[in-house]
Amino acid sequence: MHFSPEYFKTHFPLFAQQENRNLVYLDNAATTQKPACVIDALRDFYLHSNANTHRSSHRLARRATEMVEGVRRAAAGFLNARSPREIIFTRGATEGLNLLANSLCGTLQAGDEVVLSTAEHHANLVPWQMMAERYGLTLRFVPDARGIPQFDRIGEVLSSRTKIVSVTAGSNALGFRTDLAALRASLGDRNLYWVLDGAQLAAHDPVDVAAIGCDFFVCSAHKFYGPTGIGLVFGKEEHLRSMPPWQGGGEMIADVDLLSSAYAELPHKFEAGTSSLAGIAGLGACLEFIARQDRVAMALHEQQLQQYLHEKLSQISELHLLSNPRHNLGIVSFTHPRCAAIDLAQWLDGRDIAVRVGHHCAQPLLRAAGHTATLRASLAAYNTRADLDRFVAAVEEFLRQLD
Ligand code: PLP
Repeated sequence: MHFSPEYFKTHFPLFAQQENRNLVYLDNAATTQKPACVIDALRDFYLHSNANTHRSSHRLARRATEMVEGVRRAAAGFLNARSPREIIFTRGATEGLNLLANSLCGTLQAGDEVVLSTAEHHANLVPWQMMAERYGLTLRFVPDARGIPQFDRIGEVLSSRTKIVSVTAGSNALGFRTDLAALRASLGDRNLYWVLDGAQLAAHDPVDVAAIGCDFFVCSAHKFYGPTGIGLVFGKEEHLRSMPPWQGGGEMIADVDLLSSAYAELPHKFEAGTSSLAGIAGLGACLEFIARQDRVAMALHEQQLQQYLHEKLSQISELHLLSNPRHNLGIVSFTHPRCAAIDLAQWLDGRDIAVRVGHHCAQPLLRAAGHTATLRASLAAYNTRADLDRFVAAVEEFLRQLD
């Protein structure tokens, strides 16, 4: 089993640009770079197939429609859904979570409970807060230790009123993976909807929603080498059938009258308006690209990189690592008592090393951990040890100046 990050990187034209030859890109949890096949697919769609789907009967419209439904089948395969009817295209994980919050909560009673965790990305907090306010729902949180959810204690917050559990499959701020098998066992056969925010997980692990056993799974293509503006919601067909649509408009209807409408069959019931068709074409190319990779070897490479980086950084005195190399999705997060993370990030930028600094859209987690901002380095398969050596050397150089 061999994976060459150097060869893998040759698929990504951004790194071949003169101005980016020296770039060390460690902001992959925010978004990954795109391989040439994805960039070409976006252009090819507009060059050869541009038409609106499902609506017109001409040749181009048929081609665009076939493309969209073909990518839906590929996406069902990517997540191991039972049927393409279980795959809904959205703008991304954020829109997917808003769709689920709006559609599911409308069917609940005041006083019903939604269980979240302290480590959620704001995209998996704010939509539920909005619905809790609208429908009088109660939000409960998995017990945590300084912000880190203790999922093995979720039983303490489950009750007969719990109707939804919506949690991250992996933290974008600290990188920890949620133990999904243990979580499934804790949820048992309770009568609730289990939603997983898979935005980070899907970027690193093959996802098998059937094996996981979740009811819903959301992700964004741009986190796994696909285009921005396109994401997926997987939902079990029996749930999607009974859920109300969340946005109204063209495409999601079967018949419209002045006072009422009949909705389209799945999955179109949840896809109002014109989707990002070029984005779907790009996602299709991305899924083919991923399918051509040895994902086990790729994941092992990322795993070794994050362990190497944790080890290197743990040797720097005073540097406070918040992330943990165990069960980690390639994310390293730290602070230093004698410098602001933003100053260090700017210094790194001056050396062409791209990282992210801030609360990483997980403010409650950082607050509970006692921080307002960390510096986060996040990995993708095109990163190398040489990238990490440059990053660590630059951090050390900056810190030496503080002495
Ligand atoms: N959930 C997690 C865990 C994320 O990391 C992100 C993005 O960083 C999101 C949700 C939101 O994804 P998007 O901005 O693509 O909608």
